[in-house]
Amino acid sequence: MRNFTYCVPTEIVFGKDTEVSCGREVKKHGGTKALIVYGGGSARRSGLLERIEKSLEEEGIAYAEFGGVKPNPGLAFAEEGVEKGIREKVDFILGVGGGSAIDTAKAIAHGVANPGIPLWDIWMKKVPLTRTTKVGVVLTIPAAGSETSDSAVLTNEVIGKKSGLGTELNRPAFAIMNPELTFTLPKYQIGCGIADIMMHTLERYFIPDQENRMTDEIAEGLLRTVIDSGRKALQNPADYDAMSELMWCGSLSHNNLTGLGRAKDFSVHKLGHALSARFDCVHGATLTAVWGSWAEYVWTNDVNRFVHYAKQVWGIEGSGEETAREGIEKTVSYFKSIGMPVSLGELGIGIQDEKTLEELAMDATMNDTVRLSVLRPLDASDVLEIFRKANH
Ligand code: NAP
Ligand code: FE
Repeated sequence: MRNFTYCVPTEIVFGKDTEVSCGREVKKHGGTKALIVYGGGSARRSGLLERIEKSLEEEGIAYAEFGGVKPNPGLAFAEEGVEKGIREKVDFILGVGGGSAIDTAKAIAHGVANPGIPLWDIWMKKVPLTRTTKVGVVLTIPAAGSETSDSAVLTNEVIGKKSGLGTELNRPAFAIMNPELTFTLPKYQIGCGIADIMMHTLERYFIPDQENRMTDEIAEGLLRTVIDSGRKALQNPADYDAMSELMWCGSLSHNNLTGLGRAKDFSVHKLGHALSARFDCVHGATLTAVWGSWAEYVWTNDVNRFVHYAKQVWGIEGSGEETAREGIEKTVSYFKSIGMPVSLGELGIGIQDEKTLEELAMDATMNDTVRLSVLRPLDASDVLEIFRKANH
């Protein structure tokens, strides 16, 4: 086991009707005026925003609102939010929604605490981030895990780059998680969420030569739970128990618990971000569209790890290459069964020209300066090969 520190300070408030405690939570964490950051309208339509507003009013918390965050949230919109937050003199940012609203809330929090510093300079770590504004979260979709993660992802539309910022200052002060809030989700979004939760665990799992039993058991248990609860949630999106499992797994999969004591990979995410930046595809779908091709490309570098995965997660008996391959096949068929694309064609962006594939490979590897994947270091030519494999 490698050395690690683990500190997830986010207070979790989980269960039915918990959003009514929002005002109390903001007050407890020192907020007096909040900026409510939300998406394209699902939270307004469901009546959630009204309940949040009422709960803030009951606690005497003033608020301003900043709605309209789009999936794959953009830098320019976050900068607008910073301006509004400063103008309104808020001291607390409340993200309502999924990864997109929450990541925008985190970005605004950094901007409000550091007036005059361009957000992208913070994102590219040109300017060290030493302070932020407190963020609280009301989660409406089990997926990104941003509600407890140390990460936030923005797209810089001007240079066409989607990039994550990792910092402990990204951890929200509290996360309100009521599984009932997810009942209005379209099935496609549920599928994308399941995919993202699995991928946050898989990206930490396929790391070679690192004996780490407890972390493995957590990851494998989480994956089995998501696979099973995901099927149930898709059959009945109002299944409270299934959605509860997904919601909790979403948080645990991405707050580092599933990777403690070992290196991190996130190569599949890098490929997915290149696709989202260029084609504005939904995050979870970009990951399943390339995962099978990634696995086919790297598995021979650590057959035993893939055998272990096949046994522990999919209950496949056996050993050797056949078992390893079966585990990969099972994963890809599961993605298909939950309505997720498993190729670029199915993602709706079948790519005709080689030049675009080459550019995507350069984007994913930051112009061939970064080696992706711990299992098998991937340069731009390897990534190009993976994109080619996925391009059908
Ligand atoms: P999302 O982009 O926040 O939301 C996806 C869609 O679901 C939106 O159209 C949203 O509509 C809708 N939606 C959300 N809750 C709903 C509900 N209860 N009922 C009906 N519709 C609902 O989804 P996400 O997958 O959580 O976030 C994806 C983003 O997070 C990507 O940019 C990804 O790169 C990033 N990400 C971040 C992290 C991190 O740790 N920070 C990790 C992984 C991924 P409305 O806009 O109308 O609400
Ligand atoms: Fe993700």
